[in-house]
Amino acid sequence: MKIVKGVKFVYQPTPRTLELISKFRDMVNDAIRICLTENIKGRLKLRNRIYKELQVRYGVLSCFPYCVAEVAWSIVKKHKRWHRKPYAKRLMFKMDAANFSLNYSVLTLPFKKGESIHIPLKYGEYQRSFLMDKTLKRGSVTMTESSIVIAFSKEPPVAEPSKKVGYDLNEKSVVGSDGTRHDLSEVARLHTLYGVRRSRFYERHAYDRRLRKKFAASRKEKERVNQALHRASTLIVEKARANREVIVLERLKGIRHAHKRGNGEGKAKRRRIALWPFRQLQSYIDYKARWAGVPVEYVSPSYTSKKCNVCGCINRKLRVTDRSWLCPCGAKLDRDLNAAINIERRGKTPCLGEVRPGARGTYEAVKGNETTMAPILRAEASKSDLRLP
Ligand SMILES: [Zn+2]
Repeated sequence: MKIVKGVKFVYQPTPRTLELISKFRDMVNDAIRICLTENIKGRLKLRNRIYKELQVRYGVLSCFPYCVAEVAWSIVKKHKRWHRKPYAKRLMFKMDAANFSLNYSVLTLPFKKGESIHIPLKYGEYQRSFLMDKTLKRGSVTMTESSIVIAFSKEPPVAEPSKKVGYDLNEKSVVGSDGTRHDLSEVARLHTLYGVRRSRFYERHAYDRRLRKKFAASRKEKERVNQALHRASTLIVEKARANREVIVLERLKGIRHAHKRGNGEGKAKRRRIALWPFRQLQSYIDYKARWAGVPVEYVSPSYTSKKCNVCGCINRKLRVTDRSWLCPCGAKLDRDLNAAINIERRGKTPCLGEVRPGARGTYEAVKGNETTMAPILRAEASKSDLRLP
């Protein structure tokens, strides 16, 4: 199965590129109109119908009608759910891999006979790693007024997984059943900080629509939270790839219902939990893992923190605020690690060197690992940086 990843680049728009995108949008709208008035059923029929006409009308190369038909047809197909007539509003341009060329960071798009448009892409380390990777295939290119997204694809490497690692996502950290810990207290802190700032702001400027709009659009908080989530998810997936792990996560349904009013938590904490981007972190882990060929499995979240991983008894009295507890069986349990171990055990993906010794032994061994894990991860991160030319 092929996996595709869209990589976003920034570029400097010129009158030529703007002409190209607005022409493309006009062609798409022409195609949609033709499709509807002549009741054309099928992408290929639409393509054949507009092939000559658009070439003549807009003076473009023959590859354009093909790409226009793709975009127009997908809009026509979607429009049944719309309340308005199908119409391509946004300025955009899309072309498949066969028609453009990418030479390092210069994108060359065909335009008219004997005329191409060369666009130098701006890139950072992340984008560069895609441009330089010769094993990746290029898919379509999508261009708007401000950005260009190029799809890269590859066959994921297939490696037999050797073990499972469960991850407990909680308010302040991500804890792995192998003892790894990623601190995310910054995310909680940012939410509190900006939450206070936001409520004060709205108190002061409750009736100023212009200012409110401006404030709502400030993306600083989101960006900083995203950075923290990207950092943690990258490290988790990198480690999983290097050690051939299966990542086991909780199915996050109704996680926020667990933190309802009247459960003993303060208002501020419930607010943070409600805003904590669990889903976002999961989706980051999920797509990065797919790209790296790391399997991800989702398991039932019931009682993962209340069940003792040694004897299996359930501590119904465990409160959300308890960070650790003592089980009647004698096990001293760290709340998050215990949950991560339970999550890992629910995973069903078969693994090669699966070791299932006495649960207590595993717990002890895992505990010892906690401190040694972090430097290894850091070493890996710097190694992958070096690989870039
Ligand atoms: Zn127990």
